[in-house]
Amino acid sequence: MATSVKLNTGAQMPILGLGTWKSPPGKVTEAVKAAITTGYRHIDGAFVYQNEREVGDGVNAMIKDGVVKREDLFIVSKLWCTFHEKPRVREGCEKTLSDLKLDYLDLYLIHWPMGFKSGDELFPLDEGGETISDNTSFVETWEAMEELVDAGLVKAIGVSNFNKDQIEAILNKPGLKHKPANNQVECHPYLNQQKLIDYCQSKGISVTAYSPLGSPDRPWAKPEDPSLLEDPNIKAIAEKHKKTSAQILIRFHIQRNVIVIPKSITPQRIQENFQVFDFELSEEEMKTILGFHRNWRVCAMQWATKHKDYPFNAEF
Ligand code: NAP
Repeated sequence: MATSVKLNTGAQMPILGLGTWKSPPGKVTEAVKAAITTGYRHIDGAFVYQNEREVGDGVNAMIKDGVVKREDLFIVSKLWCTFHEKPRVREGCEKTLSDLKLDYLDLYLIHWPMGFKSGDELFPLDEGGETISDNTSFVETWEAMEELVDAGLVKAIGVSNFNKDQIEAILNKPGLKHKPANNQVECHPYLNQQKLIDYCQSKGISVTAYSPLGSPDRPWAKPEDPSLLEDPNIKAIAEKHKKTSAQILIRFHIQRNVIVIPKSITPQRIQENFQVFDFELSEEEMKTILGFHRNWRVCAMQWATKHKDYPFNAEF
């Protein structure tokens, strides 16, 4: 089983990475160090997580200690919605690079297709509680992303939370210089993304699955929400393989050639989540897991449903 996915740039992207959303600044440095010590070579971050300095501290400590070389790591970050205006794209990327104390990223994603009013507020809201648009077009933002590749700041560029039509708008852009290398979307058995994955993979665009464990630490979790980690059907498959539910949920993506980025700040779980290359789910089990789909989303970005570029009103 491959431990990496080949991007349309030719680069290899490790199929398993460490997520860092909600990882507190005071914990994430140790989490990154534990992950790299365990064997992770891919770290997923973003400006909006407000912990990139501390993520960078972990990465740089491991490089300094000789545990890894920079070129053996695959570092991902994302352009936040308030940086979609063309001149701000490079500014956003440079801020991330300086926080991480790195001189390039392996992959830089447009975090969401929607642009928000530029400024210090990460979620500028109007009186009705709706995000304020900056009236940019993500196709133009893409042109500024392409310039980052040409300037050597990033090795590859991609998107996140884009639907099929939005990806198509980029692919159909006259004079397109760099195709998106990746689309990072929410994906797990309750939102299996079969159609979007088939579409992306048919266009040579790799897919990364976020919130693979159902994001139990999401700030808006309600007690009545479904729980993937507690799902008895997942538990039954886990018991059969003498694995944990988390390991089944992670392995599910690997067998679809989908990159997966579970988040943890707990060293024992960081290790557990990496022990997924020594067993295989049968075709039957994969089908069964795909059948758990119930169109359930962790990250619906409910403040932006009226934005012209809100991605989740389309079928996929
Ligand atoms: P997740 O990875 O599905 O779940 C993280 C939660 O699961 C944490 O509470 C973690 O606890 C717990 N956990 C981790 N391993 C476990 C295990 N083996 N057993 C039991 N519990 C376990 O959620 P996520 O953070 O939403 O998604 C993963 C990453 O995807 C993010 O961190 C971020 O990098 C990325 N993401 C991107 C977007 C986007 O818009 N592009 C959106 C959401 C997420 P502890 O940390 O306390 O151990």
